[in-house]
Amino acid sequence: MEGFVNVSVRIKPTFNDEATNSCLQVINKQPPILLVLDKSQTYHFDNIFTPDIQQEEVYNETVKTLTERVKTGYNCTVFAYGQTGTGKTYTIGTNADVTINEEESGLISRTLDDFFTPSDGYTETEISISFIEIYNEKVYDLLLPHHALPVKGFTVQGFKKLKVNNTFEALEQLKYGSKNRHTSGTKQNLNSSRSHAIFSIYYQSRSCTSEIESKLNLVDLAGSERVNKTGNQGSSFYEGVNINKGLLSLGQVMTALSTNCSHIPYRQSVITTILQDSLNKKNYVTLIACVSSSPEDLSETLQTLEFANRVK
Ligand code: ADP
Ligand code: MG
Repeated sequence: MEGFVNVSVRIKPTFNDEATNSCLQVINKQPPILLVLDKSQTYHFDNIFTPDIQQEEVYNETVKTLTERVKTGYNCTVFAYGQTGTGKTYTIGTNADVTINEEESGLISRTLDDFFTPSDGYTETEISISFIEIYNEKVYDLLLPHHALPVKGFTVQGFKKLKVNNTFEALEQLKYGSKNRHTSGTKQNLNSSRSHAIFSIYYQSRSCTSEIESKLNLVDLAGSERVNKTGNQGSSFYEGVNINKGLLSLGQVMTALSTNCSHIPYRQSVITTILQDSLNKKNYVTLIACVSSSPEDLSETLQTLEFANRVK
């Protein structure tokens, strides 16, 4: 993994009731090149995960190196971006699903396992977590429901940060928090999430020679689909406008960083404001663009690939 930003694409498997002809084809494995059929458009990414690739491999290729960097003091962030229904929540593991088996567990629980695996006997480490949501440009604490939290400067005030002793304890909080997320029905997906959820893992270690305080943010972004496609009206339409504002400014911040722009527009949205301490060239960011290979989703898939391509 080189540089500030690493970009992967994950193609969702098709299920029984969906069309099986795919509009995406991987035409070269190393370096990975994706061809969008009909458009004869090609894209280069750091990784392309085809539908057969399992959660463990996605973890090993994307977040594993980030946990090592966090242990040496970097703030790292993982984003799942994409249209509703393409596997963002599945990939990050931001679900309240208790029935999920170990093989299918997402990035959050695998990251926690990594942090709780002892590395050497000489460091004293402490792991804490927080779980917040940005909905309509307001921050809510998912561990303290119904509390909208103020943002001062670049930081959220008064959110709950909880020390955890093992993965199990942290996942209990994750499950509790996931149930408090804002969701609303849209034409596309009844459980479509209209908010950004940020699960952060704080790492603190002390040894006789050093003290490290850093964190890893795992972000399940709101659906990137255009509002008119989902048929939203009224308050749902207003939600859509705000969601796009967050995603738009995230794209602008990351593009500004990768092109060495002198002005980084953090203030344009809440998500970029509160992640300012992690979204900079001193730290590391991984974007996982989740896409559908189905021809009827082609325009959304192209939009997601263009976003992923711009932030590289
Ligand atoms: P999103 O959060 O982007 O709206 P979800 O993560 O909820 O999408 O995924 C939609 C559905 O597809 C869920 O039922 C999820 O379990 C399933 N799914 C997504 N990606 C995969 C995958 N790689 N393997 C198996 N099931 C998946
Ligand atoms: Mg989701």
